[in-house]
Amino acid sequence: RVEMKNVRKRFGDNEVIKNINLKVDDNEVVVLIGPSGAGKSTVLRMINGLETTTSGEILIDGDDIAHAGKSINQMREKIGMVFQHFNLFPNMSVLDNITLAPVELGIRNKADAVTQAKQFLEVVGLTDKADAMPASLSGGQKQRVAIARALAMHPEIMLFDEPTSALDPEMVGDVLGVMRRLAKQGMTMVIVTHEMGFAREVADRVVFFADGELLEQGTPTDIFDHPQHPRLQQFLKQVL
Ligand code: ATP
Ligand code: MG
Repeated sequence: RVEMKNVRKRFGDNEVIKNINLKVDDNEVVVLIGPSGAGKSTVLRMINGLETTTSGEILIDGDDIAHAGKSINQMREKIGMVFQHFNLFPNMSVLDNITLAPVELGIRNKADAVTQAKQFLEVVGLTDKADAMPASLSGGQKQRVAIARALAMHPEIMLFDEPTSALDPEMVGDVLGVMRRLAKQGMTMVIVTHEMGFAREVADRVVFFADGELLEQGTPTDIFDHPQHPRLQQFLKQVL
């Protein structure tokens, strides 16, 4: 469970996150939407400790990741992240991409890591690609490997930052399908996406950001069918 309390973030004089309060419960799927520059990626990066906060608290199961000190790596192991541009290691096979972190961090021995990696490849529908190199995969396949790699750390929470934005349209469905299954299995997820149909279908809650502020949140029906804030109404007119 994630709790952001009065979180602010400044880059120099530029306050990009203005007093955000946001909770994500266990097994909840929260989708963040909003215009470019709203601060969506910054919020995700703060949740997994890739970015510091200027003030406020970000509690992961009650522990503040912004002031985690030495335990930050342990806290980050609870959080899986999937980026727009996959970030696979290009010189390693799919299997090695997935087993690297659990083995290097001493969480699993190589044999167990390989067994598990194969299970996660099955989850993402890529059992036949274990020995392939990333360069030989399509964008959608790369992204599914990235998801398998994140799952291999057995995260309690998965963060997705526009996981389908860099994909050709025909690849988007496969990746969304994997995410849909994770959601059904009860994975706690925070997803930044421009796929409004997907948001409507899988989100327990949709959160609208603009200019570093959380302007509105609610069920998909609240947000898409009964938007209140003029900024949200304007945003939906542009994207729907
Ligand atoms: P997009 O939809 O385009 O991905 P976003 O909602 O993810 O946008 P962010 O990437 O979080 O927006 O950026 C929010 C603001 O913070 C922007 O004004 C951006 O220029 C600024 N920003 C982000 N990272 C940095 C950084 N490392 N240094 C300075 N400014 C930054
Ligand atoms: Mg972004």
